[in-house]
Order: sequence, then C-alpha cells, then structure tokens
Amino acid sequence: MPAALPYRIMKKIILLLGLLCVFCVLLTACGEDEEDDYEWIDHLQTTTKAPTLTPTTALSPTPTEVPRKPYILCLDPGHGGRWTGAIYYGVEERTVVLQLAKEIRAYLNEHYPDIEVYLTRETNECFSDDLGTDLRKRVEYGKEMGAQILVSLHLNASDAHNLRGTMVCISKQPNINGISKELANTLMDATEALGLRRRGYETRNSGDTFDENGVPVDYYAICRHGASLGIPAVILESCFMDNEKDFAFVKDDAAIKKLAAAEAEAMAKFLISHYSK
Ligand SMILES: [Zn+2]
Repeated sequence: MPAALPYRIMKKIILLLGLLCVFCVLLTACGEDEEDDYEWIDHLQTTTKAPTLTPTTALSPTPTEVPRKPYILCLDPGHGGRWTGAIYYGVEERTVVLQLAKEIRAYLNEHYPDIEVYLTRETNECFSDDLGTDLRKRVEYGKEMGAQILVSLHLNASDAHNLRGTMVCISKQPNINGISKELANTLMDATEALGLRRRGYETRNSGDTFDENGVPVDYYAICRHGASLGIPAVILESCFMDNEKDFAFVKDDAAIKKLAAAEAEAMAKFLISHYSK
C-alpha cells in the first residue's frame, strides 16, 4: 500500500486548488461583462434591423454587417398591449394599425430600397404596461434607431359618430413644429387624393404641464417626447373607424394595402425631399 501523503503537503495542495477555483470564477465573470458591453455598444452604433420587442427586452443586439441607409423612418402602430384603441365593426384599432404599418414597410422595402423602416412593435406586445413609460419608449426607440421622422399610426372615432377624414396631431414646440406641419400636409395630400376628407393638423398644449422655462408642453405624448428628443413625431389619424364611409378605407386587406401604398409614397416623398445629402 502507498504511504499516505504527509499532512503538510496535503494542506498546501488543498490551498492551491482553492486559489485556482477563485481565479477561474473571477476570469469568467470579467469575460462576460466585456462581451455584454461590446455587443451593446456595437448594436447602438450600427444596427440595421428592428429587433423584436418584448416588454422586458426592448432593444436586443442585432446583425451589424449591413451599412445604414440614407433615410430612416420609424412607424409606431398605436396602442397594443392591454390597449385596444377604438373597436368598431368587430375590429380593434391596434390590429388594423399594426397591419397598416407592416404594409407601409413592405411597400417601402419594395419601391424605396434607400429607406430603412423600423416598427415600434411587431406584435401586440409593447414596451411597458405603464402608458406614460410606453409612449416615451416608443419615441426613444425611434430616436435610438436614428429615425429622421416618426409617424404614429392611429384611427379616429367621435362621440356622435358623424365625423370623417384624416387629421394629424403635431407638436406646438418651435424646434419641430414647422417640419411636423410640412409632414402632416404631405400625408394629408396623399389621403385626400385617395378620397378621404382633409381635416387638417391639430396642436394641443397640456393644461397643467410646463417645461423648465414655464412654457406649456404638448398634450399628445408622442409629439411631446418628439419635441424633447428633437425628432418630428406626428400622430396620423388616417380615418374615422366609427363612420361607415371612412371605415371602407380599412375594411379589408385590399383596402389597407391601398391606404398603406398612398401613405408610404407620402413618407418617401417627404424623406427624400428633406433629408437628401
Ligand atoms: Zn388610437
């Protein structure tokens, strides 16, 4: 039988093994941190594809090999999550505007390869269960993706169900008011040519919220956050869901496709005329 190792040597071996384990754990932890940081920075600088959104992982790392395109558009299908938006004729606003956004993107991908399109949501999921946080994050997402403009897609409804036409809500703040007005008019030129009434653009100040200089901020959150982040963010209310004649413009796949093509053309025209280098 081999002789047992002296107690002193055993003690040294155990100590050395212990130190080795601690060293390995530290090395692994440092490596993971570095990799996370690298992927995050890389994603912010060169990402080209819209990540899939979930409430907990708003922005996830994406492939980086494709160069950025000259024009970048962010489409925000309104509502989603626990917010349905208006419901008429058996359909929910959140579902129609998501389909509309996807059709606009498909049209632009086919006809305007120089325009990169991001959607703030690809499914019913949105950024947060808290409305204020969700709306802020939608605009932050557009800004982070480098979008030159953000168009939030909605459908309207009125108390007496007797209104018709397209309206666009824009910011009152001087840094983006002028350009938002131009964008609103370009969008309404397109829907008017399709046969929708032109209701015009609307601005509205918050009655109880002011910036640090005491100037009232926009009532509409999307516009307000657009102003604070310096991105023209407008709310396009294409038509009234609760009016039969207006509803015809979104009543089925073919109608939505037609509306999407007209709005996509308007967005392309606006981007190319304002952001050509
Ligand atoms: Zn809406």
